[in-house]
Amino acid sequence: MSRLRSALGNRLAELRRVLKVVFGRSALVKGNVYELARKCGKPNCICTRGQLHRSMVLTWSEKGKGRLLSLPRERVAAIKRKSEAYLRFRRARARVTEIHREILALMDRIEKLRREEPLR
Ligand SMILES: [Zn+2]
Repeated sequence: MSRLRSALGNRLAELRRVLKVVFGRSALVKGNVYELARKCGKPNCICTRGQLHRSMVLTWSEKGKGRLLSLPRERVAAIKRKSEAYLRFRRARARVTEIHREILALMDRIEKLRREEPLR
């Protein structure tokens, strides 16, 4: 029982830690920033000789569809920072779901140990 209580305490402490990211105020941008190297399709372009066109893009999915946005060079750093913040936020959300489940499981075990028949 004391082991269960301390496990429950640990989950609560972790929940508090994990939720810190939610109390933040920084902007969140959904998606991943990375460098895309591609061929443009023009027959005599340098990209046909291996020198691919490189650009920074943001990709994300919307209603199950993949989206892509080319980023102006001067915006890349800020958007990358915001997309990383978004990733941390989503990771925290996933962890909250797990912690929630773990807390319920611990509560069920504690309930089992504390239950008794009314006239025993
Ligand atoms: Zn080209």
